[in-house]
This record gives sequence, structure tokens and C-alpha cells, in this order.
Amino acid sequence: MFKASLRSHLTLWFGGLSLLTLLSVGFYFGHIATEQMKQASGNALLNTARAAATLLGEQLRERQLEVYLLSRAPHLERGDLDNPNILKSMQLRTQARTEYAWMGVTDAEGQVHQAVNNLLVGQSVQKRPWFQVGLRRQYTGDPHEAVLLAKLLPGLPNGEPLRFIDFAAPIHNAEGKVIGVLGAHAHWSWVTRIVESAAFSHKNSAPDIQALIVDHDGKVLYPEALMGQQMAVNDSVTPGWTTGNGYLTSMVSVPTPSGTALSWSIAIRQPLETALQPARLLQYELLLLGVFAAVVFGLVAYYLALYLSRPIEQLARSAKQVQNNQPGARFQLQHPVLEIAQLGQSIDAMTQSLLRKERELQEANASLEATVAQRTAALTQANAELLSLATHDGLTGVYNRRRFDEKIAEYSLLSRRTGRPFALLLIDADHFKRINDTHGHAVGDDVLQQLAQLIQRNVRTTDFVARYGGEEFAVLLPEVAHPDTPEVVAEKIRAAVAQAHFQGVGQVTVSIGLGLADPADNNHTALIKRSDQQLYQAKAAGRNQVACHAH
Ligand code: GH3
Ligand code: MG
Ligand code: MG
Repeated sequence: MFKASLRSHLTLWFGGLSLLTLLSVGFYFGHIATEQMKQASGNALLNTARAAATLLGEQLRERQLEVYLLSRAPHLERGDLDNPNILKSMQLRTQARTEYAWMGVTDAEGQVHQAVNNLLVGQSVQKRPWFQVGLRRQYTGDPHEAVLLAKLLPGLPNGEPLRFIDFAAPIHNAEGKVIGVLGAHAHWSWVTRIVESAAFSHKNSAPDIQALIVDHDGKVLYPEALMGQQMAVNDSVTPGWTTGNGYLTSMVSVPTPSGTALSWSIAIRQPLETALQPARLLQYELLLLGVFAAVVFGLVAYYLALYLSRPIEQLARSAKQVQNNQPGARFQLQHPVLEIAQLGQSIDAMTQSLLRKERELQEANASLEATVAQRTAALTQANAELLSLATHDGLTGVYNRRRFDEKIAEYSLLSRRTGRPFALLLIDADHFKRINDTHGHAVGDDVLQQLAQLIQRNVRTTDFVARYGGEEFAVLLPEVAHPDTPEVVAEKIRAAVAQAHFQGVGQVTVSIGLGLADPADNNHTALIKRSDQQLYQAKAAGRNQVACHAH
């Protein structure tokens, strides 16, 4: 499992939560700001559209009224379509107003009778819509390209075709019969200028706005670039604004000149991007603020976590030191955070108790080891004593009879294998019964001890001394060569005993029988027998002497 430090946990949580909070607040306020911005911009556009529509409506009504009034001139009512005063009136008006491209009078068949600058006089306009509608009622028409006048009037400097809107009114005679039509063409550019002047008149008008003139079907009439495009007509009873196609659009219908069927709308629109820019800016600022706050919160959390985690890490390090038996483990007992202080104190107490127990255990181990060593030594000594008891004579300290039997068997085996002889001395105290009888058994024992010491002292360490039984000793001599031949050794022993003083007894003598091992012997009893015979000889010969088999 992935393990992160307390620092990372707290930093991520704090930073993340603050970012989340501020971002949602940012988005919420941004949304509200966007809606309000839309409302405000939409209303501004609506006002502009209303102003433009009102202005255009008035202008159109005035032109229409002019044409109407001219059509009601007394000369025309009298049926005098060619009266020069009419031409004069028309000229006056067209000179006063540059928007007029043409003004003229036709008869009921569409023949032009007179016109400003004599344009089209004598030609037929029977096919033109303004004439056909103008026969029946007043007419203000949609813009169209110049048809008959195209060749007669100078073109536009930008090369675009001349476009007109037509005004017309029927001419009635005194009897009320239609006898002709008074028509006028106004430059379309005059209309567009009105709209533009209304839309862009305000110094503080919204940036990037566009003014459109739309006909009754929602077809764009102006500007040229968008001509023919379909606009969604705002059908709502209360005029307002809509969003769509990336624009915030407000559309207002132009008040219709009386008696005509003209139905235009003015649309003022602004790219949503532009309209909502301040709101977007606000949102962006809130976003930045959110990120900044997240960083600040994250840092604060980091330091807070550091403050909390440092003592815990220290505790962990110290615990590790204790575990590794390293010195210097120290637990923080004081910390402003209660739980951390408690943790430190608990671990410290636990460690102290553990260390104390460990010390006690070590001490117990040490004393146990000492006891074991002591007991082992005692046991070893007891074993040694036991071994000595098993092989030695309790009274004299020399080897006992059992050990002697083993030893002589061993020697004879070895001798038979190597062919090298060895000697056996049997030493018997003379008249010992008398010593006992005279001085007591205890003194006899002392004499036996002293005899053993004397024998031991007069042989080599490689020689074997044992108590053979009662007041009789046996010595095994593995070396039989000169100068210390068995006879010499035996004589040395005999002389040493004879010369020694025995406490409370005085002189004691021994008789010694000497036998040599013979490789031909089947077993050692033959040797013992020979030595015993020699001992008997020594006794028989008067005691205090050595007897040996004559070779
Ligand atoms: P001989 O010169 O013929 O050897 O005469 P002897 O008296 O030494 O021989 P004998 O066999 O008649 O007597 C041996 C005596 O040694 C008899 C016994 O009481 C005594 N004796 C044997 N073992 C011990 C002992 O361990 N301590 C004491 N004090 N006397 C012992
Ligand atoms: Mg004896
Ligand atoms: Mg004896």
C-alpha cells in the first residue's frame, strides 16, 4: 500500500479542499456575474435597437408623408399630371434632401409624365412593384437594386450596385378615381446611415456591436455582408434579447409608416464573447485567487503537519534506536499537542520498563552462569575424586588392587606384542602382625602410609605403584635396562625402608620378590606367581632382602 507522510496527507487535503471550495465559489459567482452581465448588455442593446428603430420609423414616416402630400397636390387632383409646378415641388424636395435618387409622376398606365432631372420621362414603370401597389394604396417597399435607373445614375464609389427603397402614393382626381402614381426612390444608404447613426451615436456604446436591418421574414437586408441570411425573429410580446449563434441579440420592429405594409426590424447584436468579457475576467480572477489560496492553504497545512509530524518522526527514530540497542534514544515528553506529549511519555515509560527488565534479565543470566560454572567445577572435582576413589587405595593414596589388575594385564599384552620385558616387585612388610599387636592398628595404618610414600619416592614417575593387599605393595617397572634394573630399584626400596624411622615404631623392614615378564607367558598370573615365589624365598632367607629368579 502506498504510504505518504502526514505532511503530504494534510497538504493535499487542505490544498485540495480550499481549491475545491474557492473554485466552486468562483464558478458560482462567475455564473451570477455572467447572467447579470448578459442582462445588462442585453438591456443596453435593446435600448440601442429601440432608439434606432424609432429614428428610422420617424424618417420613413416623414418620407412617406412627403410623397403622400405631393400626391395630393391640387394640380394633380385636377388631373393635370404634367403641371410644371409639380415638377418644381418635386425638385425642391429632392434638392433639399439628398436621399432622394428619383421622384416622378406616372399616369394610371405606368407612363412617366414628369420626373426630377427628366429621368425616365416617357418610359413605362408598369412592371415595378411600387407602381402596382401605389395604384391602390401608399407604399414603402423593401430595398432593391436599381433596375431602370442603373444606367442613368452615377454608381457608388465602392462599386456596389445602387440600391433603393421606394415610396409611392396613388393620385386621385376630384372624383376619387386613380389617375396616376407619385413615386420616389430613396438611396438605401440613407436608411443604413440612419440606423448606423442611431446605433453608434453613443460614445459609450458597447464594443463590437453590429446593427442589422431585417425584413418581415427575418431576412437580413443590411449589412451587405450578411444580406439574405435568416435571423430568428423575436416573437415575444415584450421585446427583449436572445442569445444564439454566439451573439447576444436584441431585435425591435420599426414602427410602420401609416398606410403601408412595411415590416422591418432593427437587430442590434454583440458577440457573446465581448458582452461577457468582464464576467469572464472576473471568473478568471476568482480562479487565480482560488489557486493562490490553495497554495497558501497547502503551505499552511504543510507547516502545521510538519509541526505535528516532527515529534512523531522523532519518536519513531528513537524507537528504532532502542530496537537497535543504540544509545541516546530520547523521547519528547513536552509538546503543546496533548496527544503527542502523551505518546512521548507512554513510549518513554514503556522503554524504561523494557530496558529495566532487560537489565534484570542480563543480571539473572550472569549469576546463573556463575552458579553453573561453580557447580560444574564442583562436579568436575567430585568426578575426579570419584575416579581417584575407584582407582586408588583409600589409606595410602597409591593405586588400588583393581587398577593394578588392569595395569598388569595391559603391560603383559603390550609386552607380548613388542617383546619387551617388564618387571613386577611384590613388597611385603616384615612381621607386621607384631607391629599391630604391639602399637595398635592405627599405628599400623600410619606405617602402611609411610611405606607407600617411601616406595613411591624411590621409583620413577613412569613406574606404577599399587597396594596389592593388606601390608603388601606391588610395583610395575616398564624399564628393565641398566643402570636402573629391577634388582637395583628393589634394593633401593628395601634400603630406603630399612633406613627410615617410623614414628612410634622405630625400624620396619620389607622383603621384596622380583619377577620378570616372559614373552612366552600365556598370561600375567605366571608373572605374579614367579614374583610371589621370590617373595617367599626372601622371607624364608631371613627377611629384609630382595629375591630374584636366577637367570
Ligand atoms: P611375615 O613377616 O611373615 O609377613 O609376618 P607378618 O606378621 O607380617 O604376616 P601375617 O600375614 O601373619 O600378618 C599380616 C598382618 O597385617 C595381619 C593383619 O592384621 C595386618 N594387617 C593387614 N592389613 C592391615 C591394615 O590395613 N592395617 C593394619 N594396621 N594392619 C593390617
Ligand atoms: Mg603378608
Ligand atoms: Mg608380612
